[in-house]
Amino acid sequence: MYSPEIEQDLRVAIFRWLDDRQLCGQCEFTRDELFNFYIGDIRLPLIDRGRGIRNPVDFESTLSIMTSVDSPYSDELDTAAFVKYDYRTAERSDNTKLKKAFQVQAPLIYFEGIRTSVYVAHYPVYVVADDPIKRVFTITMDESLRFFGDPATLPPDQRAYAERTVKARLHQPAFRAKVMHAYANTCAICSLKHVELLDAAHIIPDADQDGFANVTNGLSLCKIHHAAYDRNLLGITPTYVVRINNALLDEVDGPMLRYGLQDMHGRTLTLPRRRVDRPAPDALARRYEEFAA
Ligand SMILES: [Zn+2]
Repeated sequence: MYSPEIEQDLRVAIFRWLDDRQLCGQCEFTRDELFNFYIGDIRLPLIDRGRGIRNPVDFESTLSIMTSVDSPYSDELDTAAFVKYDYRTAERSDNTKLKKAFQVQAPLIYFEGIRTSVYVAHYPVYVVADDPIKRVFTITMDESLRFFGDPATLPPDQRAYAERTVKARLHQPAFRAKVMHAYANTCAICSLKHVELLDAAHIIPDADQDGFANVTNGLSLCKIHHAAYDRNLLGITPTYVVRINNALLDEVDGPMLRYGLQDMHGRTLTLPRRRVDRPAPDALARRYEEFAA
């Protein structure tokens, strides 16, 4: 068994690795790379091959939990602000190590399955309640909610507030991964293919929670086209044609304005290959009205 200090250091090293990967624009992780993970010479799988919880032998607390898209238990966890996690029946050590994670407030990773054998990472997440009678743990999916404690004890308005404020943030990693995958890491407007310069933009920013994370409410856009779209300097018609704001079309300036914006006027979007991933025309129409106004 590692000392608590070493265990903590290893967790921090793992979080750094996840951070680095995401900074480079990587937003998803394959089962193989998570399973064959090394820190220096130490092999330390981040997930368990056979189960939805990873408890390294040498760790006193759980390292990660996961759901996969094709798991029959995928309703166990989702991206609500607080999620329930039933006690395991097969392996008692699983419950012991998750209880320990609650006691020492160990930071965990939650791997959310988005396609077969592909995950996005939420971290750090924490166990905030343990109910031995109902045999269920409560996990908070966002660090900022940790200090609310057990959500069962929260007044309804506070709980609703907590749920609402984190929902968008929690959906973001999966949304980004799905949009980037659908658009093959390409700006839909200018075709730029540098994933570190691309964003997953929302068409309707305040869409209800289902719509929010849906690829059809998204567009893969480079940073400049994302900002221009959000500011209504650039519009997209429901038939996928790019329009540039009239005043901007008349301006005279350097190459970014000329090639980066004005030349985009009249271009047709590069769309996802799969028809089901394409932007919803009604959402585009709603946003286009704002632009045209
Ligand atoms: Zn672009």
